[in-house]
Amino acid sequence: MKPQLTRGAARRLRQMHDQLLTAYGPQNWWPAKTPFEVIVGAYLTQNTAWRSVERSLAQLHEAEVLGIEGLRAVPLRRLQELIRPTGFASRKAPALKAFLALLDTEFGGSLEAMAATPTEALRLKLLALWGVGPETADAILLYGLGHAIPVADEYLRRIAERHGLLDPAPRRDRLGYAALVELTTNAFGEDPASSRPQQYNEFHALTVAVGKAHCGRVANCTNCPLNYDAHKLP
Ligand code: SF4
Repeated sequence: MKPQLTRGAARRLRQMHDQLLTAYGPQNWWPAKTPFEVIVGAYLTQNTAWRSVERSLAQLHEAEVLGIEGLRAVPLRRLQELIRPTGFASRKAPALKAFLALLDTEFGGSLEAMAATPTEALRLKLLALWGVGPETADAILLYGLGHAIPVADEYLRRIAERHGLLDPAPRRDRLGYAALVELTTNAFGEDPASSRPQQYNEFHALTVAVGKAHCGRVANCTNCPLNYDAHKLP
């Protein structure tokens, strides 16, 4: 993609944020109570709908293990049973235990110490964990630990490609993900650094909202706030 188009694409994406905010209002994500619950949710939501995550979170809560101490103590098999509603429990349970091992060995069991680590260094540590891809790592960093890093997902990829902001290929690999993150970072590049975590937070929530309502596997552009006819590319 040519640099000029990249700048235009970033500007357009920023406009999309504004249009979605006008249409839907502030989303106030993430739908969880504590930073640790956010992190658990980021693992559980892989390849499943949020309503399934809520069932698993409720079961973890009822079993009184939805916290660092609780999850550390609960046996692996019991953890698998408790998170079964989200699917892939045999993969997600050990992945959660691996996160706890990182927290304990490198940060003394303190989320505050983990959050104080520079973003890029912490991102590399998270990506090195089993069961953590870029989207999960960035959701943990942004929503769980307050770092200024955008989260890119399938909804954002569809929106960006369908509006010609990004080349369709490569799609789901790490290069495709990195291109989406770069596009989003550039879109908010002129905003004050201090406001970026909140803006990335809202933008991700807004793209999920429009994705669910209109931009699924098949685009339903009628009445979409980002309708092509109403908002032409610059
Ligand atoms: S549904 Fe149509 S107008 Fe809305 S974001 Fe998707 S492609 Fe754009």
